[in-house]
Amino acid sequence: MTVKVRFAPSPTGRIHAGNVRAALINWLFAKKQQGLFVLRIDDTDLERSTKENEDLIETDLKWLGLNWDERYNQSKRFDIYQKAADALKADGRLYACYETADELDRRRKVQLSRGLPPVYDRAALNLTEAEKAAFEAEGRKPHWRFKLDGKRVAWEDLVRGHCEVDTTSMSDPVLIREDGAFLYTLPSVVDDIDMKITHVIRGEDHVANTGTQIEIFEALSAFFGGAPLPTFAHMTLLVGADGEGLSKRLGSMSISQMREDGLEPLAITSHLAKIGTSDPLEVASSLEVLAEAQDFTKMGRAPARYDFDDLMRLNAGVLQSMSYAEAKLRLEALSVDLGELFWDTIKPNLHKFAEVVEWAAIVRDDVATVIEDAGFAAKALELLPDDYGRDSWSAWTAAIKDATGAKGKALFMPLRLALTGKPHGPDMGALSFLIGREKIAKRLGASA
Ligand code: GLU
Repeated sequence: MTVKVRFAPSPTGRIHAGNVRAALINWLFAKKQQGLFVLRIDDTDLERSTKENEDLIETDLKWLGLNWDERYNQSKRFDIYQKAADALKADGRLYACYETADELDRRRKVQLSRGLPPVYDRAALNLTEAEKAAFEAEGRKPHWRFKLDGKRVAWEDLVRGHCEVDTTSMSDPVLIREDGAFLYTLPSVVDDIDMKITHVIRGEDHVANTGTQIEIFEALSAFFGGAPLPTFAHMTLLVGADGEGLSKRLGSMSISQMREDGLEPLAITSHLAKIGTSDPLEVASSLEVLAEAQDFTKMGRAPARYDFDDLMRLNAGVLQSMSYAEAKLRLEALSVDLGELFWDTIKPNLHKFAEVVEWAAIVRDDVATVIEDAGFAAKALELLPDDYGRDSWSAWTAAIKDATGAKGKALFMPLRLALTGKPHGPDMGALSFLIGREKIAKRLGASA
């Protein structure tokens, strides 16, 4: 049996960390099992879905390296949903209801005031043909509910272990709205069957849905000539650094926003693959390495902590382990390819790739530097070797130390400030060599 999983985003907005985690874990699982990853655009809501959002989802997934083997739009598959709905109607599992939203609301309030659960009372099941015809004559259109068996639906979840959902406590779900639109549930099950999805991996906000969906799987089995249930895995939801729900800012932060902010795809994927698991939070060298380590038994019931500081730490880690060959094209694109030594020297100090521009300016251009002690700078200038090489820094600073008596921070900080204008930065031995004698002299002479 070939493993086949799906990521089913709704193109009603941009995808953010929570969606991407679902996409990523599906992708990694498929990779590890040598299976297939399906991108299924859940655009049944024609009014709220846009082509622009759909394109952005694709851009984001590709940027993250999450390519798909098959791709579908649910909006192009209404025929098969209609046939499945007809089969359910013929079996009496899908029934017409004519209540308006206001009527349903009133009934719920009455139930609640009597201390009863606000479950749909199935009044529509008792409508006679004449009553239905009267509603239709009034111009009312039916919405269609799926008649639940009302039982304990059980499954073995790859993350949560044995799960049960009692569908007696649930309202019969509406599968088709009065305007004829299919809500998410039916297309999702029909496609999972038709596309032979073997594993449904998604957030735990779908646990209750799974109860209903399993009943729909069973109800459609005959229509499809057998519909084996997929295996389910429901992952805990993301929480913020404080363990509370994700802040609005983070929760709604789109992947395109992260891309614009200079986050590396591998930092995002490493972070999302590891949070909520027993593995250490560290940068992986590739998605393949993450896939190798993917294992639902490492996921607990503990929430996955989405901490932006951790993400930034991983981002720096990605840059630190990036070779010059990998960085070259991006350096060129920013017109700051100053060679391998430059890249290797500055990369330990980068938080974001774009910061290379600032270091390139320090190496290549005239930048404002800081001289706090003109006498010290003059002495350093006087002792500056004529031929400033890759190894000159230690001999030069030793000579300055002898001449001025300054040592440690008092020796190195004024030089760093004079040469770079910054109190922190890369190794000065390599950096000063990259800056070169001429500019060093000019920067020290700025006090004159
Ligand atoms: N479009 C649904 C969502 O984004 C898909 C859920 C599912 O994976 O079944 O929540």
